[in-house]
Amino acid sequence: MYDILIVGGGPAGLTAAIYALRAGRSALVIEKNGFGGQIAFSPKVENIPGTRTISGAEFADKLTDHAMDLGAEVELETVTAVEKSGDIFTVTTEEGGSYNAKAVILAVGVKHRTLGLPGEEELIGNGISFCAVCDGAFYTGQDVAMIGGGNSALQEALLLAEVCNHVTIVQNLAFLTGEKKLADALAEKDNVSILYSTVVSEYLTQDGALTGLKLHNDATGQESEIAVNGTFLAVGLMPENDAFAHLASLNAWGYFDSDESCTTATAGLFVAGDCRSKYIRQVVTAAGDGAIAAMAACKYLDR
Ligand SMILES: Cc1cc2nc3c(=O)[nH]c(=O)nc-3n(C[C@H](O)[C@H](O)[C@H](O)COP(=O)(O)OP(=O)(O)OC[C@H]3O[C@@H](n4cnc5c(N)ncnc54)[C@H](O)[C@@H]3O)c2cc1C
Repeated sequence: MYDILIVGGGPAGLTAAIYALRAGRSALVIEKNGFGGQIAFSPKVENIPGTRTISGAEFADKLTDHAMDLGAEVELETVTAVEKSGDIFTVTTEEGGSYNAKAVILAVGVKHRTLGLPGEEELIGNGISFCAVCDGAFYTGQDVAMIGGGNSALQEALLLAEVCNHVTIVQNLAFLTGEKKLADALAEKDNVSILYSTVVSEYLTQDGALTGLKLHNDATGQESEIAVNGTFLAVGLMPENDAFAHLASLNAWGYFDSDESCTTATAGLFVAGDCRSKYIRQVVTAAGDGAIAAMAACKYLDR
């Protein structure tokens, strides 16, 4: 029986483990892919206070080591269900594992939608990015593409236009779906162009690095290519919270409907990080949630 079982070994989950262990609680972290979470895909992280620059993979390793040095137990398994009976939670995994805990923190993150094209997975963090705030500066003076035409895409394109040589927005529809105000601001920029009714049909690469995009115009059937050093995808986020929705309610977009308290409708169940409704999804906000959720779980155990 663990005091606190944490589902997800990203910045939120591992920070929760650090805080729980430092408060004298036992903690098990179950992670399905790689400890450290999605930040491991970032080539360089430059917005963690006190750390000028670090690779995402190194940060992920350091964070994992920190939690494990303090005594975190870890399992590499996929959690498929969380149930509560009386005061005890039972967490089961695809691999057949079954674990009991007095409190559970769901820190399962969020998946960025991708285009599903060949080679995409390998290019993430190596030419393909999901975050202009995080990675835009790496393309200073270079040509980039922004895939998507919603508010996120337009906001990110505006940021990129400040530092990049040229930004090509590739939108599958014949119009932008983001706010007019943003579209107007982009129209003012002479280093931004928009391709409508256009989809990416292939990533062009050389020696494993992204060099361009092959495009298909749905309206004219015309094929074309553009040269880019980087491509930012803003085609939506995919929370994967459905399996836990009977214990923690979801908002209209599928995120756990929780505020800064990280609590849920189920006593003893907390949510942290990118998987919950929030304004900014970043390492520092995920870590902040992890700390809060762990402290709230400790308080719940002390009741
Ligand atoms: C390419 C890239 C670059 C980025 N750059 C920056 C940056 O420079 N600065 C910054 O602050 N942020 C950056 N971000 C965002 C940052 O990585 C996230 O905000 C942060 O990782 C969120 O932490 P989290 O713990 O909430 O979620 P995640 O990091 O997504 O971790 C959640 C973990 O839960 C696991 N999981 C999910 N479901 C299950 C399950 N059922 N069972 C077991 N495990 C499960 C996942 O495998 C994952 O490892 C970047 C993101 C990407 C993709």
